[in-house]
Amino acid sequence: MGFSELLTKLLFARKIEARDGQLLIVGVPMLITPVTFFAYSLLDAFEKNTLQDYYKIWKRAVNETFSADVEKQFGLKRGRLADWLRELGGATGWGQIDFVTVDYEKHRGIVRVKNNPVAMFLSHKVNKPICYHMAALGAGVASRSFEEEVDCVEVKCMALGNPYCEFIIKPKEEIENEKIRKSFSNVLKK
Ligand SMILES: [Zn+2]
Repeated sequence: MGFSELLTKLLFARKIEARDGQLLIVGVPMLITPVTFFAYSLLDAFEKNTLQDYYKIWKRAVNETFSADVEKQFGLKRGRLADWLRELGGATGWGQIDFVTVDYEKHRGIVRVKNNPVAMFLSHKVNKPICYHMAALGAGVASRSFEEEVDCVEVKCMALGNPYCEFIIKPKEEIENEKIRKSFSNVLKK
């Protein structure tokens, strides 16, 4: 495992600074924390059935703060913004992120994450996809780079024994309609 090209470039350009108890990447304060801190809070939300709230808070934070900061600072838009954030995510330990398909016109895509450390830690501790933090990151970044509000749902998860986590990104109304249809079909089955 070598050292990330993006982080090397940022270091040389003095876009990563660590001093006086602060770590700044592109001027934004960051925290390095053990993976287990995220895993424990996700597990707690899973047990209390509050993962949707977790998702909403993270999505809002990503969309309103970090991706907006990067967009403003580097003037990156659409695909270039999404690619830059994907690379930074990989370089800072969130997993190896790949865009399988992205459609900037129809505002949808499929994203896969290998070596997702949180999901690996939670392997066989949950019975449904757990990476609401990654889904929220995907939704927040995609909403900003598509310039249209989208949502993101995890359909495969390493915590369930899949070789990677897979996320579907679609326009918000489409996902909501699917949920309504699904809940109706459950009612009809009963
Ligand atoms: Zn997952």
